[in-house]
Amino acid sequence: MKSFKAQLEQKKAAGLYRQRRITQGPQSTQLMVDGKKVINFCSNNYLGLANHPAINEAFKKGIDRYGSGSGAAHLINGHSAAHHALEEELAEFTGYARCLLFSTGYMANLGVVQAMLGRGDVVLQDRLNHASLLDAALLSGARFSRYAHASVEAARILLLKNAQQHSMLLTDGVFSMDGDIAPLPELAHACQQYDSYLMLDDAHGMGVLGENGRGCMEHFDLDASAVPVLMGTLGKAFGTAGAFVAADEEIIEYLIQHARTYIYTTAMPAALAEATRASLKLVQTESWRRDKLKQLIKTFRQAVSEMGYELMDSETPIQPLVIGDSHQAMKISQQLLDQGIHVGAIRPPTVEEGSARLRITFNAEHSFEQLQQLVNALQEIRT
Ligand SMILES: *Cc1c(COP(=O)(O)O)cnc(C)c1O
Repeated sequence: MKSFKAQLEQKKAAGLYRQRRITQGPQSTQLMVDGKKVINFCSNNYLGLANHPAINEAFKKGIDRYGSGSGAAHLINGHSAAHHALEEELAEFTGYARCLLFSTGYMANLGVVQAMLGRGDVVLQDRLNHASLLDAALLSGARFSRYAHASVEAARILLLKNAQQHSMLLTDGVFSMDGDIAPLPELAHACQQYDSYLMLDDAHGMGVLGENGRGCMEHFDLDASAVPVLMGTLGKAFGTAGAFVAADEEIIEYLIQHARTYIYTTAMPAALAEATRASLKLVQTESWRRDKLKQLIKTFRQAVSEMGYELMDSETPIQPLVIGDSHQAMKISQQLLDQGIHVGAIRPPTVEEGSARLRITFNAEHSFEQLQQLVNALQEIRT
């Protein structure tokens, strides 16, 4: 029998060993981590909705009405009125004909790509796409090529080369570890030209970008005709859990018949769908949350650029500081934690070798005092 001990030791020696920290209490700008109160700069709770009273209340009411469990998959009898209403509201919000709920973004990506592609087909993707898109491509059995990060030129070359094949081009909207935004209008144009299905994974843009929070599509003023398949997650800016795919009638019906991660899994609890409906209302109406994020991001970038850290080209709440060495990134993350500031150190294989980083993320409910504490701590470490 194979032993995994040596590999675990190797991970430790390389500074790549991952450990979970135990948190107590709700997700907020402050958090109890390993029994200590810290300021939280590492969650994807961008709009601060993960513990919002109106959403919590809707969740509780949903339990009173639907109970805790959904009982079965959507295609058996797990598809409640709450799920259905959420799908319709998401379709209206995103401007697509239909939406389909999935239990997680990871499963949505696997389900869509596995259903829409098979052997003999081609899948193209950005080198820095999320792991779930890479896994989706592998699972589909399609031939798979990656293009240089955010390079329309490189994508075009691959599209041209594969113009005779049935293909999809997959891209993150906001890149999860870099915070930059994909060149979506240009990619959409190239995909139309070469007859390839563009799929956008807007896990980090949805709720955050655009005047009304409709994400990268709104940021670039694109509509459903430019991006045939949109995936959005509900566990980040929306503050709940789950994901949805938005597309036209035909694609959604096709996914209901063929997406295995949709068919062979229990529906999310109906109460969770009710909570997300409440969240969707707040995402649309409380645009002050997006305005506040912009102010926090601007203030942070100004303060840190004067300290000699390497900022990345990001206008989103994901503001990584590249450190390089994994041990060093871990050390700085620990120093920050000692000062009561929780920032994740992201290391390979999540990011490329030699590009370990602090992944700082903002939440609309961070105060400017909390931001200043982060800035002060980063200054102290630097000197
Ligand atoms: C988080 C994330 C996912 C996965 O979504 P979950 O709902 O957490 O499974 C997919 N794609 C990207 C780009 C993500 O950041």
